[in-house]
Amino acid sequence: MKTLSFLNENPDSAWNIFIAQVERVLPFLGELECWVETLIRPKRALIVDIPLEMEDGTVRHFEGYRVQHNLSRGPGKGGVRFHPDVTLEEVMALSAWMTIKCAALNLPFGGAKGGIRVDPSVLSTKELERLTRRYTSEIGLIIGPQQDIPAPDIGTNAQVMAWMMDTYSMNVGSTTTGVVTGKPIHLGGSLGRVKATGRGVFVTGMAAAKHINLDIAGARIGVQGFGNVGSVAAQLFASEGAKIVSVQDHSATLYDPAGMDIEALIAWQTVHGKIKGFPCADEVSPEAFWQFDYEIVIPAALEGQITAQRAERLSCRLVLEGANGPTVPKADDILRERGITVLPDVICNAGGVTVSYFEWVQDFSSFYWSEDEIYQKLDDIILNAFDDVWIKSQQLDISLRTAAYAIACERILTARKERGIYP
Ligand code: GLU
Repeated sequence: MKTLSFLNENPDSAWNIFIAQVERVLPFLGELECWVETLIRPKRALIVDIPLEMEDGTVRHFEGYRVQHNLSRGPGKGGVRFHPDVTLEEVMALSAWMTIKCAALNLPFGGAKGGIRVDPSVLSTKELERLTRRYTSEIGLIIGPQQDIPAPDIGTNAQVMAWMMDTYSMNVGSTTTGVVTGKPIHLGGSLGRVKATGRGVFVTGMAAAKHINLDIAGARIGVQGFGNVGSVAAQLFASEGAKIVSVQDHSATLYDPAGMDIEALIAWQTVHGKIKGFPCADEVSPEAFWQFDYEIVIPAALEGQITAQRAERLSCRLVLEGANGPTVPKADDILRERGITVLPDVICNAGGVTVSYFEWVQDFSSFYWSEDEIYQKLDDIILNAFDDVWIKSQQLDISLRTAAYAIACERILTARKERGIYP
């Protein structure tokens, strides 16, 4: 069997997590195994310099990236992250997870991702707009509605997508709504896109809970990350009677064994920009989040959060990966040995890119669907993908992640093989 090369010594770095995940699927690839090298080499990576004139007249430089990991099944697809810890290696891994995610859902896209190493919270709105526009212009070499379609991720939102769409359109000379997804509704955005990722976590989480006979009413849930994904998932689970007993964001970790009033917490966050100071729960240490008793844990923040050490003592029955890459491979093994079900990111958080796909289709057909139609189609696609993965994992007695990779890699590598090598 093939052995794959890791990038560096750190087994828990984002790209190495991805390589280890691919390594686990090798025994299930059959004759397609000879094409696997294609997955561990991003097709194309662009590093750009973004000079930015600050409000005080000084100029600062930021580093940005766009990585197209694999385009065998269609144009690149994936978000843009604005965060102080963004690196080329992280963007490579995030782009690779998009390749797997789009294939696992059978969306006609390859995988891509972008990012800028910046803390957007310290920029003025004008600085953020200039940064976004220059970044878009620089990556304009490789993006486009048929080439590679960016979308929001951590630190970016519909306004950032509007600036990206406008900048690209100005550069090419015509309004091109389909170049990005996650846009405001008036600019060709899709109904339901904002809540889509959180809804996907909820819908697939409910399906997984049913399979393991876990009753959602009264279930204790911990949510790490209270952005677009974590807050919506928390809201939907709470509406089914679950108790959200702990929530963590960059500012604080809150705990209330009776379950928090999620609507009140969302209202607090809307006013203050963070959960810290919410008066109706206790603030505890960040590490305490991993030590409470739960039925469900939803990591919905950054990669590498469920380490081997945290996995040893995590007390829950189900992990729903709202984030990309939150569980390191060693922790995956520990959780499996301990009988804890992990619903992998590439299925669990795929609601966002699925509605992005709907947005892209609506943009080029210039015909828009109702929110009900969007949710109906979203639930159909994501639950079908979930069922396929669940059945595969039972048939082969493998984790849900390896099952998702087996299904996705078969699609990607078959396309790779059938297209052949050019020239
Ligand atoms: N950033 C999201 C993700 O990680 C959405 C990507 C997209 O809509 O293209 O799946």
